[in-house]
Amino acid sequence: MRKQVIAGNWKMNKTHKEAESFINEVKGKVPSKESVESVVCAPFPFLQKLVEETKDSDVEIGAQNMYFEENGAFTGEVSPVMLKELGVTYVVLGHSERRDVFGETDETVNKKVHAAFDHDLTPIVCVGESLEQRESDETMNHIESQITKAVEGLTDDQVKQLIIAYEPIWAIGTGRTASSEQANEVCTHIRKVVGKLSGDEAAEAVRIQYGGSVKPANVDELLSQSDIDGALVGGASLEADSFLKLVEAGK
Ligand code: 13P
Repeated sequence: MRKQVIAGNWKMNKTHKEAESFINEVKGKVPSKESVESVVCAPFPFLQKLVEETKDSDVEIGAQNMYFEENGAFTGEVSPVMLKELGVTYVVLGHSERRDVFGETDETVNKKVHAAFDHDLTPIVCVGESLEQRESDETMNHIESQITKAVEGLTDDQVKQLIIAYEPIWAIGTGRTASSEQANEVCTHIRKVVGKLSGDEAAEAVRIQYGGSVKPANVDELLSQSDIDGALVGGASLEADSFLKLVEAGK
């Protein structure tokens, strides 16, 4: 049985004060981490505070990006060593906004995935097709290519610990969710691709989230699908009430 992992991706939102009041509101109320993993992926400036505040709670803190080198002349970047030292445990990699707005490539995503494992951070690797790719029937090939490149060089054991987030770009922030069948169809395909690359055990163990306009009203239906093991949530993760409903659904 795979444990569900519900991760909020705050993107570039909230003030320090808002971040603090959110975490104080949710930290005593999330279900135990034995039943569901509840993760908040926050902007860099809030990470230290959020890790401190959640030390004795069932909330885990994640970053939304990082660089793959440990240190050096990389102005503006944050390293896996820094995240690990803070007590961050997850890191979102290859989000479509990083790929589209900041030129992230499959190659840098792969380097970052390796760096995450080297520093004991759990990577949440995002993949997903554009509307154009969906309409021209390229979804499955595109996803297969993104996954193949993301996991290149990983051991089968590392792949078992990976979290893959399937986020169709046309469903992000648009209010347009993939139907649960559409979402599951791609997640099943992802599991097959992982099986082909890293074996049946890895395919059985890898956790696949769906992301794209997930909210309390549609989360149960999405999580009930056979190959969906959680959600990566933007907008609906920003309010404490709504985040709590989402993690509750993952129990
Ligand atoms: P929304 O939930 O706001 O559609 O964002 C999805 C997302 O990009 C999470 O990483």
